[in-house]
Amino acid sequence: MIAAVAFDLDDTLAESKTPISTTMADLLVRLGRLVPVCIISGGRFEQFRDQVVRLLPPADPALESLHLMPTCGTRYYRHTAGEWRQIYADDLTPEEKRDAIEAIEAAAKGLGMWEPDEIVTGDRIEDRGSQITFSALGQRAEVARKKTWDPDGAKRQVLREEVQRALPALEVRAGGSTSIDITRKGIDKAYGVRHFAAAIDVDLGSILFVGDRLDPGGNDAPVIELGVQTHAVRDCRETESLLPRLISALQNGSGGAWPGDGHGMCGHDGGKHPGR
Ligand SMILES: [Mg+2]
Repeated sequence: MIAAVAFDLDDTLAESKTPISTTMADLLVRLGRLVPVCIISGGRFEQFRDQVVRLLPPADPALESLHLMPTCGTRYYRHTAGEWRQIYADDLTPEEKRDAIEAIEAAAKGLGMWEPDEIVTGDRIEDRGSQITFSALGQRAEVARKKTWDPDGAKRQVLREEVQRALPALEVRAGGSTSIDITRKGIDKAYGVRHFAAAIDVDLGSILFVGDRLDPGGNDAPVIELGVQTHAVRDCRETESLLPRLISALQNGSGGAWPGDGHGMCGHDGGKHPGR
């Protein structure tokens, strides 16, 4: 059976960094009337606000069924008493943040990746609370410029390894096209889905997770080991066509027979181009 549904955000509910469609907003509200719905992403709450919350009806009771988990669930928001409230924030300590910032600055300077101020747009280092993010060309650099900085990922790989050596207690990952993310160990989509299951008190096996990167190495793949049910989608259009079927299956009480992908399977699209 399906007792709750969790979604990745970028390329699952919306195109990367863009708002969900009005159709998707309507489908999420309809789904929320039937089961708890979680949206989980590495982005910050501000991104959720711009991409999702602004598109939802401001006062629908179904909003209380929505569980928003920015930064992979290290922050958790619910809609209660008419507004979105942060339920918890599992942030890095000031010492962890200081160590992370010092390590990234030393490594980037040592490796010649601390680019001159003239070509950096926005902050190089961003404190996202639970995550420190280094962007070699700055947070606001143009996408086209970012793509030419490290097209094969080799620079990020060297930088990541160097920073990881300096921070054995934390986790260092290559992020976007010019960025390195530092978090506590074990912060990924699985971390957020575990918190969602605990918050609504359901078994992990009765949660359906929908994401575009359930392929090996994809940023949704960590949820597979939790034993949740999974459904891989290629993009948000595929999710838009999936949801009406899921909603009617749940309305008919046949959610238990939902074909999905089965436990731990990635479905038809499991081998999608991993470079995306
Ligand atoms: Mg995605």
